[in-house]
Amino acid sequence: MLQYLVILLAEDSVSFCHYENRNTGNLLSINALKESLRISMLENLSVQYVFPEGELPAEYLAAIEVVENVKIMPSNSPYAEKANVLVFNGFFNLKSAKSGIPYVVRCGKDEFFTNYEKLIPLLEVTPHLSVVFKDLVKFNENDFAQYKTVLETFSKHVEELYVDGKSPQFNLLTDRMYLDKMRNCEAGVKTITLAPDGNFYICPAFYYNGEMPCGNPNDGLDIKNPQLYKLEYAPICRRCDAFHCRRCVWLNKLTTLEVNTPSHEQCVVSHIERNAAKSLLAAIRKHGEFMPQLPEIAEIDYLDPFDKIEK
Ligand code: SF4
Ligand code: SF4
Repeated sequence: MLQYLVILLAEDSVSFCHYENRNTGNLLSINALKESLRISMLENLSVQYVFPEGELPAEYLAAIEVVENVKIMPSNSPYAEKANVLVFNGFFNLKSAKSGIPYVVRCGKDEFFTNYEKLIPLLEVTPHLSVVFKDLVKFNENDFAQYKTVLETFSKHVEELYVDGKSPQFNLLTDRMYLDKMRNCEAGVKTITLAPDGNFYICPAFYYNGEMPCGNPNDGLDIKNPQLYKLEYAPICRRCDAFHCRRCVWLNKLTTLEVNTPSHEQCVVSHIERNAAKSLLAAIRKHGEFMPQLPEIAEIDYLDPFDKIEK
């Protein structure tokens, strides 16, 4: 059942995930914005606005406050003080950001390997740090090995903070520790996106990459084969325990042409994180009782569930 409506206020609304946005300044029309808000109220959907870098007309700023909302903003937004989530494109401005709200750092893998130490101080500044790779599908065998090493470095810092009585939240390490079932992106299942062209899409990536819309605020939603976006119809993912994995249906479509079949890269990266979370949980528990209700994460001998199925 749908729960969230993501509204891209402009063509250059900041990308908070694996996709690239477009740098034209076209705004969502004020009529489409108002109509979608009417629907969000009727359907009881939580609204998340995605802001562009520039200023918005006063009429938009007034309209968006008609409903309760979450504001996802670029770190250099003129309204950053009002953000509920701040998105950093790369490793700039990290120090000057408002503290106390979740951060998303969107970067390339090489940029991450070079700059990851800049993220360590943020673990104490933000209640939740997410790193999102814009080139996830380009990870190769060397990158996998390097990624594992970098997560081990992070893990030592996170362990020290937990021992110190803090509880930093970091998507690449701690998200999996707290889960005992899948919590994925759920685009097309729990979340739908209103794009600047006034149509609904499965997620922003489907819009920016020229996929067909799935309805509009006037005619309603029309998702073709909606079951394919659900976990139950993803034969590999539904048996997987990388519970924190985004299970990105857009990357699936891009790489395997099937929204319910993941790529090798997505699976291996998520399993490296899963295994790092397993080690971190065990390390924290050596210092004393920690979240005893959380089950241990099992030992496994594969990084891509597809290999296991093949065996
Ligand atoms: S790791 Fe692979 S199989 Fe597991 S949930 Fe993610 S995409 Fe699906
Ligand atoms: S499907 Fe989800 S994880 Fe993938 S690009 Fe869209 S919002 Fe991000």
